[in-house]
Amino acid sequence: TAVMEKILLRRSSLLRDQQQAWQESLEGREMLEFRQNLPAYKEKDTILIAILQNQVVIISGETGCGKTTQIPQFILESEIDSARGAFCSIICTQPRRISAISVSERVASERGEKLGESVGYKVRLEGIKGRDTCLLFCTTGILLRRLLVDRNLKGVTHVIVDEIHERGMNEDFLLIVLKDLLPRRPELKLILMSATLDAELFSSYFDGAPLIHIPGFTYPVRTHFLENILEMTGYRLTPSNQIDDYGQERMWKMSKQAPRKRKSQIVSSVEDALRAADFKDFSRQTQESLSCWNPDCIGFNLIEYLLSYICENERPGAVLVFMTGWDDISSLKDKLQAHPILGDPSRVLLLTCHGSMASSEQKLIFEEPEDGVRKIVLTTNIAETSITINDVVFVLDCGKAKETSYDALNNTPCLLPSWVSKVSTQQRRGRAGRVQPGECHHLYPRCVYDAFTEYQLPEILRTPLQSLCLQIKSLKLGSISEFLSRALQSPKLLAVQNAIEYLKVIGALDENENLTVLGRYLTMLPMEPKLGKMLILGAILNCLDPVLTIVAGLSVRDPFLTPLDKKDLAEAAKLQFSHDHSDHLALVRAYEGWKEAEKDLAGYDYCWKNFLSAQSMKAIDSLREEFLSLLKDTGLIDSYATSCNGWSYDQHLIRAVICYGLYPGICSVVHNEKSFSLKTMEDGPVLLYSLLNPQMVLHLHHELISAIRLLVSEDQCDGRFVFGRPDLKPSNMPVAPPQHSLISRTESGPGGDNSKSRLQTLVTRAGYAAPTYK
Ligand code: ADP
Ligand code: MG
Repeated sequence: TAVMEKILLRRSSLLRDQQQAWQESLEGREMLEFRQNLPAYKEKDTILIAILQNQVVIISGETGCGKTTQIPQFILESEIDSARGAFCSIICTQPRRISAISVSERVASERGEKLGESVGYKVRLEGIKGRDTCLLFCTTGILLRRLLVDRNLKGVTHVIVDEIHERGMNEDFLLIVLKDLLPRRPELKLILMSATLDAELFSSYFDGAPLIHIPGFTYPVRTHFLENILEMTGYRLTPSNQIDDYGQERMWKMSKQAPRKRKSQIVSSVEDALRAADFKDFSRQTQESLSCWNPDCIGFNLIEYLLSYICENERPGAVLVFMTGWDDISSLKDKLQAHPILGDPSRVLLLTCHGSMASSEQKLIFEEPEDGVRKIVLTTNIAETSITINDVVFVLDCGKAKETSYDALNNTPCLLPSWVSKVSTQQRRGRAGRVQPGECHHLYPRCVYDAFTEYQLPEILRTPLQSLCLQIKSLKLGSISEFLSRALQSPKLLAVQNAIEYLKVIGALDENENLTVLGRYLTMLPMEPKLGKMLILGAILNCLDPVLTIVAGLSVRDPFLTPLDKKDLAEAAKLQFSHDHSDHLALVRAYEGWKEAEKDLAGYDYCWKNFLSAQSMKAIDSLREEFLSLLKDTGLIDSYATSCNGWSYDQHLIRAVICYGLYPGICSVVHNEKSFSLKTMEDGPVLLYSLLNPQMVLHLHHELISAIRLLVSEDQCDGRFVFGRPDLKPSNMPVAPPQHSLISRTESGPGGDNSKSRLQTLVTRAGYAAPTYK
């Protein structure tokens, strides 16, 4: 260790010399000047002293004040100044991979270095980190994984948890673990950073840890709601301006009293619609009624109109457009590019900003455009707090964001558009006033805003807890419910019990709440347990190729589109893929066809012809790759394997894997003379055999059982396990009536007039309402 100490001391003085040289260079001086002008810089000493004197410090400050880029550097620099720079190891977590990467790049360039010298980053499947890296930006998930093998975070001197105001599941989870760790590691420093003022909750959670607020300065921002926008721009919603009947329908549904009208009777202006919908009443209603007001009914046309209005009438300044998600962003971008002004590169620099953008694209966002060119950035809520674009003067806000919610049909959490909170709206508005007074256009009426909730509900209180429970177990944190009772805000006991029960039923936990072999494999796959389970079995049974497609398909928006006016054609198109009455297999065929067409660059035509969403297809394609590399990490498949064939496309096998994964969310079709009915576990034994060729069942059993033996303990393996284990009937099994699936799926299922095929489709689709959401 004496030798090690010597090496570190030498490296520390090298670091100090390097830093001094950089700060004396022209570029370095300019950079330092920029940094010194950030509000955070003025609080540098206060912050460093507080960290010195306390184990936990909470720092809040407006977005863009320099928390993420400066505070980790302050710590690093003070260590370097004391000539012990190489002794420190600072980890700063980010909720999203894109911010971990972009922030580390920024910090490295502020220090005149390349990534991998003193600053590095690590996200899943990717990272740059060198021998001398002492400041590491990583995703929260990466730190949690490190805790798995290194419970005490040996050698780490500072942990900085950023963006805690977002209250993501991983962050809340990490805070419980860190809170436990602090007494064991008294010299470890924990710094929490938040973009909103309300940090008291965290302070009381960490026994009155000191709060430091970085006062920021923003110029006033004028706020316009839909009513004012219409008045100001004179925009009228004529029938040709409407995006589709869907929007109009939605507009009418805003008013409970308004009768359904035929298209010709639908009002032709938003003003009329607003009046018709009687917003006085509406504003008294809850968040739920907000689903009745859909920004789609105003649509891209208004955004396009407003943007061209700004370009022609307003002073210079960048425009930031908050959209719901990546699919909307890319469709809007296509539309704007065809516009005479907005699509003219000599007048408008049109950029996008979202979680999966390339880093070359990221750089453009921060650059100032040439004189006379207006920068327009279409963004997801990522630009709300994690990415700051300096020169924004105008903000357009659609009022929605994608958040993890719960898809009752597939029994999977998924990203769905939902209304943002008032706090998010304020954040969005604040983006407009960074360099001069700004303007914010909210593309919804004032009364809709009034009905927004104050804060977003923390993720831990609104999504299923199954994956979280597995993580708790894999980190050996003891009893799940005891552990979760120590959270910042604990989830309901019933939700926790349901999750544990579910994990026991699917065989991931044993009776004593210990991880089974299957459970251990599932913790290596960061996804819903049932999807992970399908992948594991797909890998073992050599039918991974189609299973990858199915699991990816369950994680994205349904790629089968059903435009209202072409419903029959769309259904007919889907029927070609689903002659064996399975949505899952239809998806596999559709994907294979798309992949083939992509080879000739005809993927888009193929989607158009077959009523498929090209975006979903691309998403499936990239998820497949991601899942495959995860599986390689688990060691279940050969890391050199390029494809898994064998009896790859045996549809009976694939269906069995689906049932195995979805269990206990499966039910049987009971054939009567005239009708068919579905039986759930509560009604009686599950008879999935009727779906399959009986001979095949027998054949399958043999194979499956031996595979399952690898995964679960012997006594759980009886012949019926895969198909529903009719022997197993826990009293409080989370079983909901299957009507849920019936309603939505028959809408877009292959259907036709064949009710049997519909039902069978439903069965293979088989999702139940979540226990936590009943
Ligand atoms: P906070 O974390 O408080 O929201 P940041 O530390 O992320 O603020 O950003 C501080 C400032 O640094 C911002 O004003 C922003 O404009 C600038 N900045 C951050 N990242 C970059 C980047 N990649 N390129 C140029 N400027 C950046
Ligand atoms: Mg930040």
